[in-house]
Formats: sequence, C-alpha cells, structure tokens
Amino acid sequence: MGKKKKSVKKGKKPHKNKPTSKKYAKYTISGDKVTRKQFCPRCGAGVFLMESQGRLYCGKCHYSEFNKK
Ligand SMILES: [Zn+2]
Repeated sequence: MGKKKKSVKKGKKPHKNKPTSKKYAKYTISGDKVTRKQFCPRCGAGVFLMESQGRLYCGKCHYSEFNKK
C-alpha cells in the first residue's frame, strides 16, 4: 500500500512543477482522520485538489468536483 504510481501525462503543463512529496508531507493524516484536503480521484494519492469557489479542482488533470457542504 501507499505505492506512488507515476502517471504523468505529457502535453499541457498545468501550473508549476512542484514535487508532490513536499506537499504530501505538509498534510498529515492522523489515524483514520484525513485532513480537509482531498486527493484527486484521477491522479491518486499525492495530488491534492484545491478549493476554489466551492469547488475542488485538480491542477494536474483538471479534474473538478463540486464541494458538497
Ligand atoms: Zn488530478
């Protein structure tokens, strides 16, 4: 478990090339409680969705999702 799969698609370059590992370390998961940040369902763990205007948005694959609640 916890395997990081590299599924980087070449083409459009969204945003910066930040190493996800650094971001990953920023948000800790305590027990079974995950922080408010959500992972991208497409990119998988390591890629967070960012919140913007009540929506979650992935800067990597451009996935977006409405934030319920
Ligand atoms: Zn994504």
